Amino acid sequence: MDFLPIFLDLRNQPVLVVGGGDVATRKVHLLLSAHARPRVVAPSASPTLQQLAESNAITLHLRPYQADDLHDCQLVIAATDRPEVNRSVASAAKALRIPVNVVDAPEQGSFITPSIIDRSPVIAAVSTGGAAPVLARLIRTRLEALIPAGYGRLGQFAQRYRERVKEHVSDVQGRRRFWERVLTGSIAERLFCGDLNAADAAMEQALASAQKNNAPPMGEVYLVGAGPGDPDLVTFRALRLMQQADVVVYDRLVSQPILELTRRDADRVYVGKERSRHAMRQEEINRLLADLAKQGKRVLRLKGGDPFIFGRGGEEIDTLFAEGIPFQVIPAVTAASGCAAYSGIPLTHRDYAQSVTFVTGHLKDGSMNLNWPQLAQPNQTVVFYMGLLGLPILRDQLIAHGVSPEMPIALVQQGTTENQRVFTATLATIQPIVEREQPKPPTLIIVGEVVRLRERLNWFQATPGHSDRLWAQREVAE
Ligand code: SAH
Repeated sequence: MDFLPIFLDLRNQPVLVVGGGDVATRKVHLLLSAHARPRVVAPSASPTLQQLAESNAITLHLRPYQADDLHDCQLVIAATDRPEVNRSVASAAKALRIPVNVVDAPEQGSFITPSIIDRSPVIAAVSTGGAAPVLARLIRTRLEALIPAGYGRLGQFAQRYRERVKEHVSDVQGRRRFWERVLTGSIAERLFCGDLNAADAAMEQALASAQKNNAPPMGEVYLVGAGPGDPDLVTFRALRLMQQADVVVYDRLVSQPILELTRRDADRVYVGKERSRHAMRQEEINRLLADLAKQGKRVLRLKGGDPFIFGRGGEEIDTLFAEGIPFQVIPAVTAASGCAAYSGIPLTHRDYAQSVTFVTGHLKDGSMNLNWPQLAQPNQTVVFYMGLLGLPILRDQLIAHGVSPEMPIALVQQGTTENQRVFTATLATIQPIVEREQPKPPTLIIVGEVVRLRERLNWFQATPGHSDRLWAQREVAE
């Protein structure tokens, strides 16, 4: 380690910044966010610096740097575009043992400034020791995504309760476990959702039960949409909850690569739901979720696509709600948007479809009870979920209600995954293709003029990364 990372308290401390350009201005902003008192010396200064000086946020001396500018400064930043000035600032500061940073020439100074992720009071700083500042910035971007915006709130919350937790939980080990639970459980989640009152109430409860040292705290359920299959489409929030759950309850639609993103040591419960071969009945799933949460577990109910679109998410939260179990619902990319985007079929289009309807093509007693006159209206796109088995019925019904047999139709099998296959045809010509290609579930059916746009958009070349896969599909489709 070439540099020791430390966090410096500069509140109300004078800090010298030599230079008045853009770089100096950025450093001044940084210092101001740490509540320092920047003293800027430069023959000329950016408009921003001049404004800051007018509002007394900084002191500004419009003249060349001179050695006594260093007087009583805690820190120095040399940010001019004149190397000889930067060098003399650096050597003067070093002689006085004042930490100095030379922007763009870190080897001349005594400290470097890291890339920062600011979730005050939580701060993460990344440095490559000046070796590759761009790499540090890339890492920072990844951390930005990893550390939810609400972590600042979490930090403040923890600060507020620190003393009380010490009083209630006296041993160090127990205290660490207590904080781990608070910071990764329902209390933190409530804070992320911005519900401070609920977080306070839950914290009081946790403190009370910690003192009595009994009854496990109530668990909670995360009803998480995993998206249509490509793990890249999982949301940040979903990912975070996937990695902190104690139990994962998942069904067939959740792809293996997504399952692999869940916490390694979490228990996994498969609840099936294959067409007509349900591994577990819906009521049993509802019961299971509630029971696990009551044992104090953080339960991840992982569902394909969006939990509120043909996902029976509503029924699952009904039970939780009735039994007073905390839960949250995480939306996701639904199969229709995923399949549409990955197969080059815009669901709406100014000229062809002013609305899009999602319907279930699930067969009940061998028939599909849908509002056919409405689905047969022109200028719309109709997306059928669970429609593969009933395809002949939906085709016949649409035509019987006035849709042209020439209407384009697309079948997207395992959309967004490595195994995506797309078949396009018309209502009149789709059946032989289905018989020949035997698409497997999950398959989504899109009916509408927009399907033609797939060809027009020349989709196959337009999507780097997917082009090979899609080229192959085109051959199948034609
Ligand atoms: N909640 C899910 C839908 C569940 S219903 C969502 O929002 O996507 C199950 C149906 O969704 C399947 O029968 C199929 O029609 C469709 N489906 C889900 N994932 C799919 C995928 N990756 N590719 C194609 N269709 C999919």
